[in-house]
Amino acid sequence: ASSWANVPQGPPVCITEAFKADKFDKKINLGVGAYRDDAGKPYVLPSVRQAEEKVISSRLNKEYAGITGVPEFTKAAAVLAYGKDSSALNRLAITQSISGTGALRIGGAFLARFFPNKTIYIPTPSWANHAAVFKDSGLEVKTYAYYNKETIGLDFAGLLKDVKAAPNGSAFLFHACAHNPTGVDPTPEQWKEIEAAVKEKGHFAFFDMAYQGFASGDIHKDAFAVRYFVEQGHNIALAQSFAKNMGLYGERIGAFSIVCADAEEQKRVDSQVKILVRPLYSNPPIHGARIAAEILNTPALYDQWLLEVKEMADRIITMRALLKENLEKLGSKHDWSHITSQIGMFAYTGLTPEQMDKLAKEHSVYATKDGRISVAGITSENVGRLAEAIFKVKG
Ligand code: PMP
Repeated sequence: ASSWANVPQGPPVCITEAFKADKFDKKINLGVGAYRDDAGKPYVLPSVRQAEEKVISSRLNKEYAGITGVPEFTKAAAVLAYGKDSSALNRLAITQSISGTGALRIGGAFLARFFPNKTIYIPTPSWANHAAVFKDSGLEVKTYAYYNKETIGLDFAGLLKDVKAAPNGSAFLFHACAHNPTGVDPTPEQWKEIEAAVKEKGHFAFFDMAYQGFASGDIHKDAFAVRYFVEQGHNIALAQSFAKNMGLYGERIGAFSIVCADAEEQKRVDSQVKILVRPLYSNPPIHGARIAAEILNTPALYDQWLLEVKEMADRIITMRALLKENLEKLGSKHDWSHITSQIGMFAYTGLTPEQMDKLAKEHSVYATKDGRISVAGITSENVGRLAEAIFKVKG
């Protein structure tokens, strides 16, 4: 018998199969987690094209990077996240990672090995991969309240209650901005209250920042929570991704960092991060790191990139407004204000699994059953048909 005769069939991990099978030429895919331009096409940022050309024409060699990656990249990534004057910068253990997912995985493994308690709390709901990554890293995953179905907004009271109810010194995973899947973020004032509760309980904050700049269009605004926690004295961990804000999805470029107490602790933590990464993949890929470093370290390219990030964010914000406007024009009596108050790539429509099913079967509009739509898949051309479809299934 085959060695794998007893391997059970797993459920599909992706949602694009039904979309591919649909023959209707005006079908709409709102399941993708990647930015699309207003023609519905994948988008390579002009700043990325320029940086890549410069990297290629430099004819660099293809030697291995060090275990923690390309230093010009990690240094610049740290400044981007923490801010150029941050006290964290000279006590930061940072490593390049296989995008945001890899950063979370290194963080999960580091916590599993060194954090005094082996549990991490993630929001309900959260990006589906959070629980999988942390479980596979050897952590126990628990949840805290986050989303209120009734208000289609933040369950702030529930969140604070759960932060306070967790055993002192627990690890909490926070989405730094553009919460996936809900698009619902705490306000700066709410973050301040969350910080106070986290401090009071002696919890450890692990931030996942997969959308810096992509949420509001402003890299500083989107980093508010991360920077505020550090200012308040939290030695946080951080997962960064350049998939969304530089459109470098397939290049798999990200960073994982831990703010340490001082330079001596940083040295010890750094040595252990290396010991963790080495048997995982030895060292990370160089191409995406070189592109990102080129952008972050070349003032003119950096300024151009900031504008391009803002353009992407603005297109998404515009599509949110258009969708809401179209629904209202059709005469929908529901309150759609959450569509525009939510932020980032995803909108939580509040549609039920049955309604989402109808959207797919009767209107060729595909997204996840939880009612989450990728706003990046909406265009000026398809927004009208999308609004009609939603109006027909929900009213
Ligand atoms: N965290 C969150 C919340 C995300 O939404 C994503 C991407 N969907 C990631 C992390 C990681 O993505 P990547 O590995 O492509 O950087």
